[in-house]
Amino acid sequence: MTPHELGRLAGDACDRDPIWDRDVETETPEAAFVRAAAAWDEQFPYLMERSGFYSRRFREAGVTGDRLSLKDIARLPFSSKAELKPAIDEAPPFGSNLCVTPGRVKRVYQTSGTTGAPSVLALSKADIETWTQIGTRTYFATGIHDHSSVLTTFGAGPFVAGHTHFVLSRVGCRSVPVAPGDTDRVVFGLKSGLADTLLSTPSFAQYLANKLEKSDGKPMGQLTHIVTGGEPGGGIPAIRDHIQQVLGVTVTEVMGIGDIAPSLFGECPQQQGMHFCGGGHVWVELVDPDSREPMVIEPGAVGELVYTHLTREAMPVVRFLGGDIVRIEGSACECGRTTFRMRVIGRRDDMFIVRGVNVYPSAILAVVGEFRPRVTGRARVIRNGADVSIMPPVPIEIEVKGGDVGDARLKADIEDAIHRTLVFRAKVDLVPEQSFGESGYKTRLTVNRP
Ligand SMILES: [Zn+2]
Repeated sequence: MTPHELGRLAGDACDRDPIWDRDVETETPEAAFVRAAAAWDEQFPYLMERSGFYSRRFREAGVTGDRLSLKDIARLPFSSKAELKPAIDEAPPFGSNLCVTPGRVKRVYQTSGTTGAPSVLALSKADIETWTQIGTRTYFATGIHDHSSVLTTFGAGPFVAGHTHFVLSRVGCRSVPVAPGDTDRVVFGLKSGLADTLLSTPSFAQYLANKLEKSDGKPMGQLTHIVTGGEPGGGIPAIRDHIQQVLGVTVTEVMGIGDIAPSLFGECPQQQGMHFCGGGHVWVELVDPDSREPMVIEPGAVGELVYTHLTREAMPVVRFLGGDIVRIEGSACECGRTTFRMRVIGRRDDMFIVRGVNVYPSAILAVVGEFRPRVTGRARVIRNGADVSIMPPVPIEIEVKGGDVGDARLKADIEDAIHRTLVFRAKVDLVPEQSFGESGYKTRLTVNRP
């Protein structure tokens, strides 16, 4: 095998370099640091001069002057979505963190507002280009090339996921947009052979697989590749294997963070976790989820990722706590990329504690997935109020296929498996298929119910 064959999808015989931005994506960690540090040396004084929000916070933290080396970035305070929101409110519509004149804002996205009122994200012309560039590295890494045809269910509405359309256009592939939730049009598009690649949430891909399994259906036309995003799942073995087997495809996953870049991590066909694709534009730190102390990004490390824009013009963020808890899988990869690879374990917000042990709902999904085909693979934890501790037995709802919600044997088997694997007692409630919404766009892993 030539290096170019590694890192491309099975059956892809094109002779294109599978790495979009070889200089950045294959450089040594030392070179990556030098590149980032040079950008930061421009970005820090820019923030001090232009960002009312950050210059004030930095001064409050005792940092003055217009130089601070990237090595010393941990001297700066963290920032979170909850802190950036008041910055918008104090000088609407763009807030006190807008670093360009309003006339230079050329694109505005809104966040979905799952936590409070919607917030705006402003981009300059250069920011739009940067997002496209990072996103192109990301999607190209999954194996999408100019000869691919891609059916995307990521909407073009107010949300940042719509930026994917610029990315597909940059890659030069065929793009077949379908509105989120329009299952009929997705099935039509795939069965009629319009696309060989599907971009969707893992919930939707599971739904398609379940649907096909039930109907003894024919494969989905030319479909060979599904790229999942929007929520974890594509990296959970039980979910991934099921989708791959039933639909006969390769599953890779991507991830982004609205405030940072909508596509920032992309998994290559080696399927060993998502590569960081933001080199030169975004600086990433790993911190302990509880103490927030810095951690080394090395294989096996589990922590929360923290992001700093190195080049963002309009609304840059510094040491932004993204809320995703990840496990570092490694760095150098057979595909040739040297950037670190990771998988998401769960959202900090979804985490709960049972008798002193942190639990992420994705771990429950991994156990539940083993019970296919009797279950759909979807499950959620029922919480009572905002209390992060749950006393066992932990209430969990699990969707079953065929509607046999009275299967006491299945219920007991799942409870046993959870106890054995995750070491806490669960109280399982079987619920009919589609209880969590038909096509499962962004299935909530925990719900509050008093
Ligand atoms: Zn790789």
